[in-house]
Amino acid sequence: MDTWAPGAAGSAWDVDNLPYGVFSRADGQRHVGVRIGEHVLDLAPLARRQRLDTASALAATNLNPLMACGQDQLTGLRNWLRHALTDLAWQPEVAPYLTPLSEVELHLPIDVGDYVDFYASEHHASNVGRIFRPDQEPLLPNWKHLPVGYHGRSGTIVASDTGVRRPSGQRRGETGPVFGPSTRLDIEAELGFVVGRPSQHGSPVPMRHFQAHVFGVVGVNDWSARDIQAWEYVPLGPFLAKSFATSISHWVTPLAALEAAWVPMPRQVPRPLDYLDPDRAMALDIAIEVELNGHVVSRPPYRSMYWSPAQMLAHLTVNGASVRTGDLYASGTVSGPEPGQEGSLLELSHGWSTPFGPQRRLALEDGDTVTLRYTAPGALGGRIALGEVTGTILPAE
Ligand code: MN
Repeated sequence: MDTWAPGAAGSAWDVDNLPYGVFSRADGQRHVGVRIGEHVLDLAPLARRQRLDTASALAATNLNPLMACGQDQLTGLRNWLRHALTDLAWQPEVAPYLTPLSEVELHLPIDVGDYVDFYASEHHASNVGRIFRPDQEPLLPNWKHLPVGYHGRSGTIVASDTGVRRPSGQRRGETGPVFGPSTRLDIEAELGFVVGRPSQHGSPVPMRHFQAHVFGVVGVNDWSARDIQAWEYVPLGPFLAKSFATSISHWVTPLAALEAAWVPMPRQVPRPLDYLDPDRAMALDIAIEVELNGHVVSRPPYRSMYWSPAQMLAHLTVNGASVRTGDLYASGTVSGPEPGQEGSLLELSHGWSTPFGPQRRLALEDGDTVTLRYTAPGALGGRIALGEVTGTILPAE
């Protein structure tokens, strides 16, 4: 049955999608909403009138209370929304709570807890290894045994559309370190996983519990200052080169919208240890587009990732570290095996040596706008869109 919501039937924002977000109208008050077509549905007043068991969670000003609800409650809400948006009998009750997206402002959807960034693409890790360590094996010895990651900075996670100030810092100079605005500003096209139900401190989350703890996914651009990174990262890994800003999409796509997107993983050889059981690992068939100043410069395929979302969560918690509602873990740069599938400018420019794209770019220049777009197979047979991530580079302070 088609939705009655204006313009939504057959679009990438049909009832098989229904991502959640936070919006405000002219008065600035924040509301939890769900997107249908080019409209957002205000959920709190509807849920209150219908006495839904998620009503109090939906009255919040971010998605955390909703994400912390149990799977039964979330499934109930999603089923109710699909029903109310397709059955014409519900239109008089529901339609007054729709607002065109052109009339709202969208906000950071979650109160971000801890942020972890992985490095889960074999093709990205190999490309970077070849650029930085041309005389060695591209992958370091641990890479195929565990999903390499680091703890990032959650306080500087910003919503799509937020301007990104070019960072300044130390980089290697001819005769010693120099300080100044980064000259190698880059993107990392990633996918992020948002935790809903928390886990217990001391109890690892096995792969089979992935769906019980992860609420949904967001688009992520993990902006990176490569010149600062190259000088600072030994031996403890990324620090100021990454912590100045990380952009995420306004929309959080619930895992329930991605049920048609699961596909088999690339084979993992050598076989990882048991808690990273490759027989349970599944990949997501999410297609990414990297657009620079209006030109698509790359199409990274998420399904080519080496480590699965459930393996990343199992590894992140195997030492007993807990996850909390609102925690975000990102996949690391998504790069596919083919030219034209790179998830960073470092790779697109072959280590800053070869200008790419119609504007012959190496690194990002002030005023450049990068937009990441994501689509996946939907349950209705077409493709659903995930929230896009966009940002424009502002000149250094
Ligand atoms: Mn990253």
